[in-house]
Amino acid sequence: MASSSTTAASPAYRGRFAPSPTGPLHFGSLVTAVGSYLDAKANRGIWLVRMEDHDQQRSVPGMADAILHTLEALGMAWDETVLYQSTRDEAYAAALAKLKKRKLVYPCACSRREIADSAVNGIDGPVYTGTCRKGLLAGRATRSERVLTDGARIEFKDAIQGKVSHNIERQIGDFVVKRADGPYAYQLAVVVDDAMQGITDVVRGADLLDSTPRQIYLQQLLGYATPRYAHLPVAVNVIGEKLSKQTLAAPIDAATPVPVLNAALAFLGQDSIECGPQDTASFWKRAIAGWRLARVPHSRTVPAPALP
Ligand code: GLU
Repeated sequence: MASSSTTAASPAYRGRFAPSPTGPLHFGSLVTAVGSYLDAKANRGIWLVRMEDHDQQRSVPGMADAILHTLEALGMAWDETVLYQSTRDEAYAAALAKLKKRKLVYPCACSRREIADSAVNGIDGPVYTGTCRKGLLAGRATRSERVLTDGARIEFKDAIQGKVSHNIERQIGDFVVKRADGPYAYQLAVVVDDAMQGITDVVRGADLLDSTPRQIYLQQLLGYATPRYAHLPVAVNVIGEKLSKQTLAAPIDAATPVPVLNAALAFLGQDSIECGPQDTASFWKRAIAGWRLARVPHSRTVPAPALP
């Protein structure tokens, strides 16, 4: 996304691939890995891998390593040490404390069921109507922590999906930054880590497009810079479901890398590369030279191809 005049010594581009290690790499996550890698490398940037494993209940032992091995087998090299979110609780706690000190976060006693019963539907499930904003009712215990969204309106221009504008309070409501079951919420963790890692360009799946205004809002409250965003189409199956562990997406077979990488390139609207099935060095050299972000389909979903 950035201009290509940057130098390797002081990169104006730092990108990342941030998988949740809940299962092996499948075609959907491969597309995100390939898109973020190509955009970083075509801009002579840095490409990082961050394991989003702070939710111990969802992370599956061994999957972080399995994903890294697959990336290696595909010839994709990350530039700095892999960051594991499971090691970052102190940083998330510090960010939460900063927000609390400014009275931007409050405890909430509501259960999912109570919220669902009392709320209207917004862009990401029921809108939280602010029941606990003025304090917990007597006898109720804190379950989660929410951030105040007082009239917050966030607008940004995504490099692929175009303009996105949310009235966060009206369309989502005060959202959770620390979950009832313990972990810090994804929205907080991702913002803290993108800032700490100096990420300038976030290239990820469009399933997260509607999370981005919340993340920009948190960046503003915490005094962090806002990266550029490009949301790639998400690969869906024949009935329109996102490929995922839940929808039983097949793991990537990296034994013959080039055909599967070409399938990801085609999905992203790029020309395929003709080279030997194992020749990842030639593949990447030419794919990086040919990468055109403008050719990525401007839609939130695209059907997944039949894989070679
Ligand atoms: N860990 C998230 C996922 O696998 C992606 C987070 C991000 O790229 O911001 O869906």
